[in-house]
Amino acid sequence: MKKIFPVLKRNLSHVCNLKPYKETKWLMPNGNPTGVYVYNCVAEERVPVILNDPTMATWYSCGPTVYDSAHIGHACCYVKLDIIQRILKSFFNIKLVTAMGMTDIDDKIIKKAKETKTAYKAVSKQFEHEFWIDMANLNIEKPMIVTRVSDHMNTIENFIKNLIDSNMAYMAKDGSVYFDTTKFHLYGKLQSTQDHGEPSDEFKKNNMDFALWKAYKPGEPSWQTQWGDGRPGWHIECSAMVSKIFGSQLDFHAGGIDLKFPHHENEEAQSCAFHSTRQWANYWIHIGHLNLKDTKMSKSLQNTISIPNLLETYSADTFRMACLLSNYRHPMEYSDQMMKMAQEVVNKFKFFLKDVSVYVNNSHEGSASYNYKLLNSLQLTEEKNLEALKSDFDTPTCINSMLSLMSNANTIMKIDTANFYPVPMILIADYILDMLTKFGLQMKESTEHNISNSLIDTLVEFRHTVRENALKAKDKELLTSCDIVRDKMKSVKIQINDSKTPSWIYVK
Ligand SMILES: [Zn+2]
Repeated sequence: MKKIFPVLKRNLSHVCNLKPYKETKWLMPNGNPTGVYVYNCVAEERVPVILNDPTMATWYSCGPTVYDSAHIGHACCYVKLDIIQRILKSFFNIKLVTAMGMTDIDDKIIKKAKETKTAYKAVSKQFEHEFWIDMANLNIEKPMIVTRVSDHMNTIENFIKNLIDSNMAYMAKDGSVYFDTTKFHLYGKLQSTQDHGEPSDEFKKNNMDFALWKAYKPGEPSWQTQWGDGRPGWHIECSAMVSKIFGSQLDFHAGGIDLKFPHHENEEAQSCAFHSTRQWANYWIHIGHLNLKDTKMSKSLQNTISIPNLLETYSADTFRMACLLSNYRHPMEYSDQMMKMAQEVVNKFKFFLKDVSVYVNNSHEGSASYNYKLLNSLQLTEEKNLEALKSDFDTPTCINSMLSLMSNANTIMKIDTANFYPVPMILIADYILDMLTKFGLQMKESTEHNISNSLIDTLVEFRHTVRENALKAKDKELLTSCDIVRDKMKSVKIQINDSKTPSWIYVK
């Protein structure tokens, strides 16, 4: 193994805010410990989360390449990332500034555009639109900042120019630009590479070098730069867009485990080179694969399940529970059996909440008591769960300890009829609902909710059509009727916003 530590030590004068962590390649940020420990693939172990400002952190997730519909592999990755973000925000009071990059120009998009005889932009636009609908249906919070490659060509060009000027990148004979991996001593931080073979590509100097810029090919979209026409390589996009938003340092960088190498390795290498730093992303979060019937989820929709198909059979809460019950870093084995088990867990919690409500609201034979044993076990569960979350977001432990707390309470509710324990039961139910809500479960009666929403949609759209026609025809009577409908809906807490495409919201 290459000894990297002495190199770090020698060059530390450049990085005043980072210090070596044990004997690993990871540098510990200087700042405020949050109490949270997270696995880091550079350190190859759990490391403390230290933030410059303990109440604020930056987070970038690599988004999808939008050339096809998203499938349950994407659902698993983004639901698990959503859970981790919610944990950092709700349990540790960290304000996260989240961003996601969308790859809207890529070989696969160009191929799809050719196959379907549509413009590549139409392809990416359509699938990005679908992606956000799928994410919303899974109750995933939308990133605060969404960047698209096609909107950041100048940023990307400047980034590459800087690397060429500083000799970290070179122009190849065909007009492509490659990053010279031998110039970055820490290449292989995320995944050590022992590859010193002959370059597989005639234009590369070294086998591990990767394209920052791909030279123009006839029939493909291209952009003009100082060194020639072409389009960006995949890895450079994220680095350039992140640097544009967050500057030279990033707290969390996340994606599926398949992105660890080479994508994240290359992102780290070129970003460190660009910012003249030894560590760019402090914490790498990688989500384990979703496996379907013993085969790795492929990127195409064959042999997999689309998100709309998933949600036809199971609720978003059920899928999220399945994610909570599996360690985020481990592979998740998708099967109907596994989903039914998750569904059962969600239902158990729902029934418990209803049972408690009935229990405390109905007259009871027994005499009221606080049951300190029960209150004590609630407190122990709370403490244990907070520790579990601090320790690399251990959600399976949380769910299991909540299940055992619940089963304990259930038994007492059903067997100990001589006594009445409204206070501990309410506190336990409240704790369970609070935890599940913080993890992003909606805990709603889904079918009722969907039906009423779709009825409101229908009514709002119908009124909009009538109103548009009435406006054109200057039909005052019909317009008044439309106003009456609007006011009546407002009286039942639904507010309509009249615009080109009408929208409505529930108002409190
Ligand atoms: Zn990326």
